[in-house]
Amino acid sequence: MAPLLKNPGIHGEKILRNIYYYHIRVLENAHLINFRFVRGNPERNHFGSTRFATKEDAKEFLVETLTWPIDDDNEDGPKCPVIFLGHSVKNDLQMLQQDLGIDPRFDSNVVAIIDTQKIANEQGIRGKGQQIGLPPLIQHFGVEFRDGHTASNDAAYIIISAVQMVLKNSLPTDPTRSLQDVVNGVASDSKGTVVAFGVPRWCTECKVASHLVQPGCRKKFIKIERGMRSKSYKRP
Ligand SMILES: [Zn+2]
Repeated sequence: MAPLLKNPGIHGEKILRNIYYYHIRVLENAHLINFRFVRGNPERNHFGSTRFATKEDAKEFLVETLTWPIDDDNEDGPKCPVIFLGHSVKNDLQMLQQDLGIDPRFDSNVVAIIDTQKIANEQGIRGKGQQIGLPPLIQHFGVEFRDGHTASNDAAYIIISAVQMVLKNSLPTDPTRSLQDVVNGVASDSKGTVVAFGVPRWCTECKVASHLVQPGCRKKFIKIERGMRSKSYKRP
């Protein structure tokens, strides 16, 4: 990472291209779409290729990403130090703990937990309320909050905001290339990343891995909102 910091590219492009973007949809919940408090469409993911996996496998994958060995030949040896970043990170920590039983606060190789909301506050970047939301934060840097409230898109906007806030005074700019141009390129190229994990397709209606959900599969449509009972109804 150190050489990258010396030569981060236009708007930090080289840093953003060195990030692995993962989007994992949990098979057991993949048919559920958030719509009441926040609307999110997991089929409109722009960062990394989407993979479907069971909750158990997704948990294992996440634990593995938090515990990369420093030396690949010594898997039981010391782990890479991890900085856990989030926006309003206490909610992420709570969800990780509640749903997957993972608590990075007690993982010995997690050296820091940082929050873009707090960094924004310290830098005087304000939203409408006391605490800035992710949409106004990324828009502050001239980047569209496209299809937000979907896991990998939000994670990408968080790390992009963090890089901009922390390095903004040292990042080269180019009058012919905006940060939005850079982000569009990073998003588009990240879709080609090969991930040897889970399956690339899963029909949430037919419950098979041979295809993604298609209009003909949608005989039943289920919506859920947090804190409410899920209901299913026949589409007219
Ligand atoms: Zn189907």
